[in-house]
Amino acid sequence: MSVLPDPEPLYELIEALTQLPGVGKRTARRMAYYLLQNDREGALAIQKAIESALQDLQHCKMCNSFTQEEICATCLSPRRDNTILCVVETAADQNMIEASHSYHGLYYVLMGKLSPLEGMGADTLGFKRLLQRVFDYPVKEVILATNFTAEGETTAHYLGQVLKEHGIKVSRIARGVPSGSELEYVDAGTIAWALTERRSD
Ligand SMILES: [Zn+2]
Repeated sequence: MSVLPDPEPLYELIEALTQLPGVGKRTARRMAYYLLQNDREGALAIQKAIESALQDLQHCKMCNSFTQEEICATCLSPRRDNTILCVVETAADQNMIEASHSYHGLYYVLMGKLSPLEGMGADTLGFKRLLQRVFDYPVKEVILATNFTAEGETTAHYLGQVLKEHGIKVSRIARGVPSGSELEYVDAGTIAWALTERRSD
């Protein structure tokens, strides 16, 4: 912690950096000093990249992931099996599953999870859009690949109930993914196994 009061712009920068996952005050301060002292060009490049990403990326109309087009390349690909839909919490999770090279269906990215305490309910998460997506296309199976955390499990349970009520076959990735863990941090082999061993009840 600094004993001197921070100049306002420095304080603002540190506060902004602490918004990033896993970045506490102390790391944020180190990053801020680094960018200002050693890498002003890098800082400007980050600024530009953030601006252009915010401006040019939108949510894919089909899978809700990030894309520059209305519909992303994955959803448009003729090589994907459009009868299977894998539901994940984040684009990072989607990326991990892709990296495992074990899945060739399509995705739906929730961009979150049910978390009543944080004001994330079914409406906020856009479950209706997911349902619409399932009904609009010939989906035969929905694989729930939300994380094995309490909130991820709640989300999977809720979604499973709703989808089954509508007569959709639902499966859950296998438990090989350690309890309490997030897909993002699981190795590709385990993800591949969890997908192959998925269960429907
Ligand atoms: Zn898409």
